[in-house]
Formats: sequence, structure tokens, C-alpha cells
Amino acid sequence: MIPVCEPTLQGNEKKYVDKCVETNWISSSGTFIEEFEKRFSKFCGVKYGVSCSNGTVALHLALASIGIGKGDEVIVPTFSIIAVSNAVLYTGAIPVFVDSEMKTWNMNPDMIEEKITEKTKAIISMHTYGCPVDMDRIRKIADKHNLKIVEDAAEAHGATYKDRMAGSLGDVACFSFYANKIITTGEGGMVVTNDEKIADKARLLRNHAFTKPRFVHYEVGFNYRMTNIQAAIGVAQMERAGELLKGRRSNAPRYENELKGVDGITLPPECPYGTNVYWMYGILIDKDKFGMGKDEVMKELEQQGIETRSFFFPMHLQPVYKKNQAINCGGEYPVSEKLYAQGLYLPSSSHLTNEQIKKIGIALKSLKK
Ligand SMILES: *Cc1c(COP(=O)(O)O)cnc(C)c1O
Repeated sequence: MIPVCEPTLQGNEKKYVDKCVETNWISSSGTFIEEFEKRFSKFCGVKYGVSCSNGTVALHLALASIGIGKGDEVIVPTFSIIAVSNAVLYTGAIPVFVDSEMKTWNMNPDMIEEKITEKTKAIISMHTYGCPVDMDRIRKIADKHNLKIVEDAAEAHGATYKDRMAGSLGDVACFSFYANKIITTGEGGMVVTNDEKIADKARLLRNHAFTKPRFVHYEVGFNYRMTNIQAAIGVAQMERAGELLKGRRSNAPRYENELKGVDGITLPPECPYGTNVYWMYGILIDKDKFGMGKDEVMKELEQQGIETRSFFFPMHLQPVYKKNQAINCGGEYPVSEKLYAQGLYLPSSSHLTNEQIKKIGIALKSLKK
């Protein structure tokens, strides 16, 4: 079976984890944590990095650290992972959905303004499957309406936008280091920012808002700490970040070589203003032109030993949100619905071989009617 994605753990990961065990530093203190925060924030070209348990809580921490709470609204892409709008709900605020644009699969900047009300406080912009958001267009709207931008860069480690790194484009950015992300710590996340106040607040909230004297608290914090063991894996991954990125990006031309010009298959966007890191190599299948729909294609590929995944099921269609009176799931979201209806991603690990990609290409083309 070719898995849809697996981590690449071929460097010092084991050695550094062993070091944690040997030295007894297995909890949330230890030298790897600071080193990982330093290395990763530098990689993103920002001053501060606050590690945490996963990408979802990174979003919650970021939102809480810029003061989002009850009574607020936050603009989010409907075509996204549920972690994004759930994190908004954790703060007591309400997510407001915006449709995608076909040319990048990201939230359509032209459709944001009509969703802004007096309650809107922030926009979460997400680099879908590794394709960077056209941030200048979002920045213009945010500045005009005095909104903060939270950049969800969980799928875009190392992506660039006009020579700036993903993670440096918003007021604050969030990363996940889940096992299928380009840089992984197993589970893990980070809030990165150039704003010292936001970083300090995130650091405080991450650890129960401990102050001095210890055990006296002035606000409700969380335990969102990363462990030294996770950070040890992260440091080993950072030593090879260039290689991991190169591997990921190299999937695109190799797949393109196999699949270009096949009627009914749309390949993922490369953006003119930056670099897509192809966290996942997504394609769209037009059932009429290809002769077979996405669901059937996924089943057939599975039988040939090729694992794939469906694109996101849009947020405005989620049963859990539709039954929530406070969330507006009405309106039209044709692009997101089409992406869901047609989209799947192919195996996307950073260490895919030419033979594997060839096999996948042949299998896919053999299904065309
Ligand atoms: C993976 C992911 C998350 C959630 O990260 P976890 O570490 O799994 O909690 C959030 N946003 C996006 C865009 C993601 O891809």
C-alpha cells in the first residue's frame, strides 16, 4: 500500500528522543523546547515562537492572545478543516464562513467584505494544501476595517508569498506539527509572531496563566504545553527542513508529468506570487469528462494499493454547525461545494519515489473512460 502520507524520520529524531529519556527531561521543560522554538521561528522569519500541544490549540491560543472572545465574529474559510472554526468557538466567538476561489482553492478575498459586521474582529486566512494566500488583498481589507489577521499556516511550512515566508504574513500565525505535516513532532503546534505582546500573552495562557507568586492566577489559562520529547523530534526535523520541503515540492512536477493533459483531471494551482509547497497533492476529477467520479476513483485506487483522501467537507454543511442557531450556515458556497464534490489528494509524503508516482499515474489514467 502507498500511504496517503507518512512522516520522514530519517535524521536525528531517535537520537534526540533517546537523549530526553536518558536525561529524564520528558515533560514540558528541557533544552529542545527552546531550541525548536528558536529554530522554527527563525525559519519563518519572525521573532517569537510559542510551542504548544497541537495546531488546533495553536489557533485557540492565537485567537485568545489577540483578545477574541464572546460577542465577536471571526471570518473563516468554509473550505477548511474543522479545527479552524472550532477554535473560534472555543473562545466564545462565532465563525463566519466565506467561499473559496477556484484559482487557488483558498478563501476568496473579494467575498470577505460583504461578511464583515460591527462584531467582526479578525480574519483567519489559511494556505490550503500548501498554496499561499494572496495576503496583500486580505491585508487591505483587514486594515480598512481594523481587523487582525490570524494566519493558519499548518499546511504551508516553508511556503513563500512575494519573498516572505508563510508564518510572517499575518499579525500572528499558527502551525501544526501533526505527523502528516511537512515538519512534524508527532503531535504539536506553534504560535509565531513579531509582536512581543502577543507572544507573551500566548506564553502565559499556554501554561495556566501562572504568575508570581506561583499558584495565584488572574485569568483562565490552559495547559497547551509541548513536551521536550516532541520538541526533540522537531529539532531533528528542522536540521533537514530543506530536504523535506524539496521532497514535497518535487512531487508536483513528477505528478504533473504523469497527469498533464488528461481530460477531466484538474491539477493543483501554482501561484504566480509565491511558492506552493504542495503539502498535499490535490486534484479535481470532473465526472462527465473523466468518465468516473471522485468516490469511485478513490475506491478503485485503494484496490490497487494506493491510498487517497477526500477534500474537506465545507463548514456550512457540517451537521454540528447547522444545528447551532448562532452560526449562519445559509448562503451560497458553490466553489467549496464543487471542490468537495470533485477533490481528492494523492499520496504526498516527502520521500515518494519515482516508481511510486509512476505507478499512481498509470493507475489513475487506466480508470479514464
Ligand atoms: C492540521 C491542521 C490543523 C490542526 O492541527 P492539529 O495539530 O491536527 O490540531 C489546523 N489547520 C489546518 C489548516 C490544518 O491543516
